[in-house]
Amino acid sequence: MKVLMLAPPGGGKGTQGARIAEALGVEHVSSGDLLREAVASDTPLGRQVGQYMAAGKLAPDALVTEAIGPVLAQRDGYVLDGFPRKRSQTEGLSFDAVIYLDVPDDVVIERLLGRGRADDKRDVIEERLRQYEADTEPLIELYREQGVLIRVDGNRAVDEITEDLLAQLRDRG
Ligand code: AMP
Repeated sequence: MKVLMLAPPGGGKGTQGARIAEALGVEHVSSGDLLREAVASDTPLGRQVGQYMAAGKLAPDALVTEAIGPVLAQRDGYVLDGFPRKRSQTEGLSFDAVIYLDVPDDVVIERLLGRGRADDKRDVIEERLRQYEADTEPLIELYREQGVLIRVDGNRAVDEITEDLLAQLRDRG
């Protein structure tokens, strides 16, 4: 099964993505994690994407695809978290289900400020939210039109959201 997690930054796509992947017995693949690892290991790719990440901007498609393409090519099923994040990245990919965790802006800002990752500073958070609204939100409509969107209220207890998601995925069989 191929599942995509869509959510604003701080919306819980990493947490829920990992839980759903474990329940489905597939790998959780996070573009943000892959890029952060590249930055931490100071690889050529990491040196190219680091500045975009620090500024809260999306890294160029070619660089992100370089990191994630080979990982996807090796697998029949996965829970993807953070990729695709804009229309140009959706080409050639299809999903059995696209999970949209709906969380209000004020809630995600509070969560991000409490998290303390390098890019969790107020001005960077605001830029990430702008990028989300401009580039990623249109994907919600795209996948709704394709009939694969599952929208859930992401402003609830973590366990409750996971149960809801697993029940809805099961219904789709
Ligand atoms: P995330 O961990 O998903 O919040 O991603 C952290 C940062 O990595 C983002 O703010 C972007 O700079 C970069 N990034 C992650 N995924 C992508 C993507 N699909 N396209 C472009 N940039 C990305």
